[in-house]
Amino acid sequence: MTEKTVITDQIKIAAVEALKALIAQPSYNQPAEPGAPFGPGIRQALDHMMALCDQLGFRTYTDPAGYYGYAEIGETGPTFGIIGHLDTVPAGDLTAWDTDPFQPIVKDGKLIGRGVQDDKGPTIAALYAVKALLDAGYHLKQKIRFIFGTDEEILWRGIAKYNEKESPIDAGIAPDAEFPLIYAEKGLLQAYLVGPGTDQFSLKMDNAFNAVPAKAEYAGPKVAAVVAALKKHNFEFEATDSKVAVLGKSVHAMNAPQGTNAVLRLLIAMNDVFDFKPLKFIGELFKEDATGENVLGKIEDESGQLTFNISTFNVNEKETRLQIDLRLPATISKEQIIKQLDARVKEFDLHYEDYDYLAPLLVPKDSDLVKTLMAVYREKTGDQTAEPTISGGATFARTMHNCVAFGAMLPDVPDFMHQANEQWPLASMYKTMDIYAEAIKRLCFE
Ligand SMILES: [Zn+2]
Repeated sequence: MTEKTVITDQIKIAAVEALKALIAQPSYNQPAEPGAPFGPGIRQALDHMMALCDQLGFRTYTDPAGYYGYAEIGETGPTFGIIGHLDTVPAGDLTAWDTDPFQPIVKDGKLIGRGVQDDKGPTIAALYAVKALLDAGYHLKQKIRFIFGTDEEILWRGIAKYNEKESPIDAGIAPDAEFPLIYAEKGLLQAYLVGPGTDQFSLKMDNAFNAVPAKAEYAGPKVAAVVAALKKHNFEFEATDSKVAVLGKSVHAMNAPQGTNAVLRLLIAMNDVFDFKPLKFIGELFKEDATGENVLGKIEDESGQLTFNISTFNVNEKETRLQIDLRLPATISKEQIIKQLDARVKEFDLHYEDYDYLAPLLVPKDSDLVKTLMAVYREKTGDQTAEPTISGGATFARTMHNCVAFGAMLPDVPDFMHQANEQWPLASMYKTMDIYAEAIKRLCFE
């Protein structure tokens, strides 16, 4: 354990005040206005953050169209990026909150408010860690650039605009996940499988790509036969004379093999009743294996095994359309998977159609960046057994060169991201600031 810290009481007080002021700027996605592509709240939070960085002595630049901003310090040398986001999810059900989500208060040593964990708190913690090093008289040997995204919770359009217009960083961290460190994130491929329609039956579903569906319904003249097939397979359902609802268990698509996919179960049963090629794809090939192994073979690397979530199977007279979400192991080529998948589904009259793709993150575990950050984490927490991890989730780290997710939540902090009463124990926030200061000192200061 290192006992010396630059995180003084004065820095702690200033960081908490700054964080409260930032949380008091509601910044969830709203309809676009001129100069505010994600709504006026997010634009105001961006302007607020840039004014704060100005005041702290950074050079700042705000994209005039309102997509991003950055704040830089240091004169020469490579650029170390710290990538946060200023947008939050909405407050959600206000009756579930004990306090006003946008009037942050400290209660029982915890700061409560929307964005305190995701991602206003971590961003402020990193900012004041740098401020603490400067106040303590350390000299930069390179540049540090804070990059503020504005659309992390929706479509990442802000950070995409940054990467299109600005020069790349040389290394960096995204303080937008958990400690110790995420060095690999799987590639994220969302797409459609499309095929012919049928007049035998129709299905209409409206599910998210990134969740395993917990319910799937069929209504039509063959309910009794579908029910019999469900019984044969021992699948759970609720039925009336005209409708049957298959029940499953929803989990995030990145953990699809741990869920129970109600859509797949319905289709497996329907394949016993109807003769339709796209149904056979599920009933005879894919079945319930959300690793996609039945279709693609076993695909895995050190970042884990592929996951394959099928969340909708919409059928009308004209068309069949499946919505799919694949998390690809970080070293696996997307093109190869698409080629293989398209060839395989052709046997069932289906073809592949693009929707969205996020490239994977993979920074070698033995890189200077990962080794330095892990060394600091182990020293500061005393946890010598901590190892860098992989994730099926996604942070801005994957949008930047040589960038990993590092913190900001310590393992003993309950996860309140996107939830009511979002809170962060101040003691834990100070510990995070201490870790950030030491890490940034080693990487960026003389
Ligand atoms: Zn976040």
